[in-house]
Amino acid sequence: MYEEAIKSAQGHFANILKEQLDRVERMKKVEEWVDYSKLMPIIIGIVGGDGIGPYIAEESKKVLKFLLEKEEKEGKVEFRDIHGLTIEKRAEVKKAIPDDVLEEIKKCHVILKGPTTTPKAGDPWPNIESANVAMRRELDLFANVRPVRVPSEGIEWVFFRENTEGAYVLGSKGIEVTPDLAIDFKVITVQGSERIIRLAFEYAKKNNRKKVTAVTKANVVKTTDGKFLDVFYKIAKEYPDIIADDWFIDIMTAKLIDKKRRTQFQVLVLPNLYGDILTDEAAEFQGGVGTAGSANIGKRYAMFEAIHGSAPRMVEEGRAKYADPSSMLRASAMLLRHIGFEDRGNKLDMAMDICGQFERKLVITGRPDGATGAEFAEYVMDTVKRSDLEEYWKTFQK
Ligand code: NAD
Repeated sequence: MYEEAIKSAQGHFANILKEQLDRVERMKKVEEWVDYSKLMPIIIGIVGGDGIGPYIAEESKKVLKFLLEKEEKEGKVEFRDIHGLTIEKRAEVKKAIPDDVLEEIKKCHVILKGPTTTPKAGDPWPNIESANVAMRRELDLFANVRPVRVPSEGIEWVFFRENTEGAYVLGSKGIEVTPDLAIDFKVITVQGSERIIRLAFEYAKKNNRKKVTAVTKANVVKTTDGKFLDVFYKIAKEYPDIIADDWFIDIMTAKLIDKKRRTQFQVLVLPNLYGDILTDEAAEFQGGVGTAGSANIGKRYAMFEAIHGSAPRMVEEGRAKYADPSSMLRASAMLLRHIGFEDRGNKLDMAMDICGQFERKLVITGRPDGATGAEFAEYVMDTVKRSDLEEYWKTFQK
């Protein structure tokens, strides 16, 4: 009775399998990690984006230039402003990333990116793809790294969310087999899992973290999550000094609220969908999405950004200069560490803890009753300059 429908669905499924097997073959051609210490100069591209993006990107650029002043003078680091990743230009050329902008981006080594608008139904823009999704694919940014820090509560988590597989990558390729039956696909590969899991363990090793936790639902979603977990424990054997454990996503969302248990988590590695959900929950403990930065990392390129969007209403209401640059400043700290300036990245994080969580001499409300983004960036720079920065930061830990 359903022969035609089944046949058509089989054809569609066969195409998906072919595409995914091709992708596996591409991943097998292992690419080397770029060595930033050998680059002269390291090129940092600043992409403003839409809405409040250019405002908070500008403030972050000021702080980055301040922290890398010496290296910029010595020609070890170069900043480049990349224009044109705006919704107007993207709509005009009907592309997620205009070709000339992508070309400029590819000439850089790392990118600091402001949020970009993604059109949804009812918007005045054509239905173009998300610039972020396109950038992750074009630059093969397979790891989404999101740290969450609340030192006063003993929270110091780093999430490694897989960016190119899981339930999202085939999210628009499901099949409506009949009007009654809808099927979606989820994909996990050994190669895709290996590279993100290894990155999480390498981070733990480099940063002296003692534990890496995998989060799946492998007891129920046995084949794909099961594969991710198998790969996790296989790779864990290469790191005998690091404790490896795993939790299921449902109980993990609960345990993040458990004050005793949550301080035991350090580095977490998760397939795409679970990572997306858990990291938004985790960011709430730090003060919401406006305070969290995120890194999208691949072997050749890396892109650092806020985890919130372009907040168009703030611009329409003339409040863009009151937008909080904290999320992009956190992303800038990650960028600094990623390219080898760990001392500067750590200093910036300490200053952000002091300005945003402890001392709070200036508070951003997003409105004229609060500080402007520029004033807050000044405050952060003044704090970074403190010769007793680390000791001062430690006084808030007691
Ligand atoms: P949003 O994150 O842009 O803003 C929601 C609200 O949060 C804002 O109205 C504002 O009140 C507040 N807010 C967000 N960031 C702030 C900041 N830095 N300072 C002060 N207040 C802040 O969410 P949205 O309205 O759902 O999305 C707007 C657009 O951004 C959409 O087109 C969406 O697709 C896009 N988006 C982009 C990214 C990205 O580029 N990474 C991420 C999420 C959303």
